[in-house]
Amino acid sequence: EYVIVNGEFVERSQAKVDIEDRGFQFGDGVYEVIRVYNGKMFTADEHLERLHVSGEKIGLKIPYSVEELKVQLAELIIKNDLKLGTIYMQFTRGVSPRNHPFPAETIAPGFTANIKHVGRPSENMDNGVKALLKEDVRWLLCDVKSLNLLGNLLAKQKAVAAGCFEAIQHRGETVTEGSASNISIVKDGKVFTHPATNLILNGITRRVFLDLCERNQIPFAEEAFTLTDLSEADEVFLSSTTAEIMPIIQINDKPVGAGASGPVTKKLQELFQQEIEEQCGK
Ligand code: PMP
Repeated sequence: EYVIVNGEFVERSQAKVDIEDRGFQFGDGVYEVIRVYNGKMFTADEHLERLHVSGEKIGLKIPYSVEELKVQLAELIIKNDLKLGTIYMQFTRGVSPRNHPFPAETIAPGFTANIKHVGRPSENMDNGVKALLKEDVRWLLCDVKSLNLLGNLLAKQKAVAAGCFEAIQHRGETVTEGSASNISIVKDGKVFTHPATNLILNGITRRVFLDLCERNQIPFAEEAFTLTDLSEADEVFLSSTTAEIMPIIQINDKPVGAGASGPVTKKLQELFQQEIEEQCGK
């Protein structure tokens, strides 16, 4: 397996990271996960542009353009013969003696990327998953795809320990997002999802399905919804790069709607599949 370390391709067993890398010590950096279907990256531009935006929001300049990154990642795919899976990449604020203030801008960011061969979660996409409600105790820069994921991990672990796939986080009465996904509901045929504010990550999958709604006359609103709206929803689904569009059929032991994947979720999955085939082929 080949990985990228600071722009170089190296055998994974030979890859080395300094113990004073700020990503390692502080979680001081940003990351992206890109889906690969048929050996081709899906929505690569959107992910790599978001990486630049995340970097800007924390004062970390990504030293490669979107085009340069695409060239490197395409080579990573070929070197690993990746057909179906994901690419993980991160940029940290580099290596410097541990100290909270940012190091000089002459310190190069630490860049690593690696791949994973992983199939699509077809069974969960068809049958749906369970979710658990969890107060959102994260910070107020959830729009940054930051390496600091402790709040998300605590939420995910709580869900997993209870036999659930995902935690649905809420700030008081308002539903925000999952631990590693965006959350949407369907009521009377209309899709609702939290607006792209500082309280959620503006998911690329979210942007794709909102665009699909727009192009296919499916009513939608980027409007925050409440726990009551959630419990009265006809359908609930989560969206993410790895989970795609996945029905949530039970929340805290209570079935959602009829307790099975609903028609709007299925329609969005079908349109999403077409989008994958358009970008990456069949
Ligand atoms: N919110 C959070 C907190 C996430 O970690 C993710 C997955 N990376 C998402 C939303 C979904 O984003 P995307 O569709 O870009 O994967």
